[in-house]
Order: sequence, then C-alpha cells, then structure tokens
Amino acid sequence: MILANKSAIVTGSTSGIGLGIARALAAEGANIMLNGFGDAAAIEKIRQEIAGIGPGKAAYHPADMSKPAEIADLVAKTAATFGSVDVLVNNAGIQHVAPIESFPIERWDAIVAINLSSSFHTIRAALPLMKKAGWGRIINVASTHGLVASAEKAAYVAAKHGVIGLTKVAAIECANTGVTCNAICPGWVLTPLVQKQIEARAAEKGTSVEQEEKALLGEKQPQLKFTTPEQLAALAVFLCSAAASNMQGSQLVSDGGWTAL
Ligand code: NAD
Repeated sequence: MILANKSAIVTGSTSGIGLGIARALAAEGANIMLNGFGDAAAIEKIRQEIAGIGPGKAAYHPADMSKPAEIADLVAKTAATFGSVDVLVNNAGIQHVAPIESFPIERWDAIVAINLSSSFHTIRAALPLMKKAGWGRIINVASTHGLVASAEKAAYVAAKHGVIGLTKVAAIECANTGVTCNAICPGWVLTPLVQKQIEARAAEKGTSVEQEEKALLGEKQPQLKFTTPEQLAALAVFLCSAAASNMQGSQLVSDGGWTAL
C-alpha cells in the first residue's frame, strides 16, 4: 500500500469519478476526507464503505466548493482530523450546456467557481502543509475540455483550460519541494454529469437514451467506449506512486482517442 498513514481530500467524492478515486486511494491505505452533495443517509453509507476498504479512516466534510471559507475549513478540518493533508484531488464539477448568447450568467459564475476557483482555494490552503511535510500530491481532474473545445460549453471549457493553467503554475512553484501537481483529462465517462446531457439530447431529439449514448461517443471518442471511474482512479494512484515523482504539470489523457483526432 503506497498511501499507508497518509491522508487524502477528494472533492466531489459522493458520486462518479471522485467516488472511484476515493475508493482506490482508500485501497492504497489512505485516510479519506469525502466531500460533495447528496442525501445524508446515502453519504454516511458511502463513508462507511470507504472506511471498510483499507486500514485508513474515512470522514465527510460538506463544504460547498463555490464558497472559499468553507473550502478553507475543509482543508483545516482534514488536517485536524487525520494529522496531515498529503493528497489533494480537485474533482468537484458541474456542467451547463447553452450557446454563449443565452448562457445564464449565474451558471457561468457557478461553473467557474466550482470547476476552477475551488482548485485555487484548496491548493492555496493545502500547499503550506504539504511543503512543510516535504511530500504531497495534487491531482486536478480536468477534462479533454481542458485541451480542446466543444460548442455550447463556454464556461466548462474556459474553466477546464484554466485548471490546466493552474496545474502548470503549481507544478513550477512546487518543483523541488517533494510536492507534485498534475492533471487527469478524461473523455466521456458515464456518470450523472454526462447522463443528464444524454437524457437532455434524447428528449430534445425524440430519440432513445441508448441511441444518444452511441451518438455522443461517435461524435468525439473513436474508441466508442466510455472511460470508467476505475480507469481514472488507477491514474490517480499512479500519480501518487514513486514512479510519478518526477511528473510535474502533466496532463494524463484517457479519452478513447478524442484529442488524437
Ligand atoms: P458527478 O456529477 O457524478 O459528480 C460530481 C461531484 O461533485 C458530486 O459528488 C457532487 O456532489 C459534487 N459537487 C457538485 N457541486 C459541488 C459543490 N458546489 N460543492 C461540493 N461538491 C460539489 O460528475 P463526474 O462526471 O464524476 O465529474 C467529476 C469531475 O470529472 C468533474 O470535475 C467533471 O468536470 C470531470 N469530468 C467528467 C467527465 C465525464 O464525462 N463525466 C469528463 C471529463 C471530466
């Protein structure tokens, strides 16, 4: 186990990719601070499941990742609960699909806050602890949309390109501190975030969800398979390993060929 006696924050880990990463880091022995929205009983069930995976403990912090004061408290409470913050996975994210002219200003602000600014706030708070410890891993879940664009996703694409930029700056500032900062860039993953987009497309076109799943993959992902949370979690574990200790500011892409086109 490569993360025994270490502690990890995974933002947005009550669902999808974040939950997959939390499970994998727990299996490597880490204490896990879960975060994200959801029904209290369902979150407690997830906490218990994560606590049962490895020798580490699991706790939950309800920080709204659009609120800087709550984010600072998430990092402080993790350090107080587990004694350290060794791994920080910035994963919480939302989506809204609309042309720029009719993109709701409130959705733009929320996406930039949750998908981009939250990572600045977590890194700002966690970095002094990691530098003091002489070891840390910052993993930003960006997207293919951090590298290329799609129509009607102005806020998401802008925020994810920003995450890649933030990753590079943190990487340079962390050089020779024992702390690394890298990004993971998934293509389509079949989580609630994407399921909502597929259902909206099917409703709009009068087609089935299955037809729209195939269409979505066909438009972007030559391999025609969704990337899975487990595949992305394995990349996160790799970034925590000694083999990745000289990786700084990189973008690990798992997108079935999307950005190779
Ligand atoms: P998801 O909807 O399954 O999970 C999102 C998580 O973020 C949930 O736990 C949710 O509660 C949490 N969250 C949302 N708003 C929050 C807030 N204000 N404060 C705290 N938590 C909040 O989505 P997912 O697909 O697992 O997405 C996870 C990350 O992966 C996101 O950053 C997303 O942009 C990125 N991503 C997803 C895909 C994909 O195809 N699903 C592709 C590339 C990148």
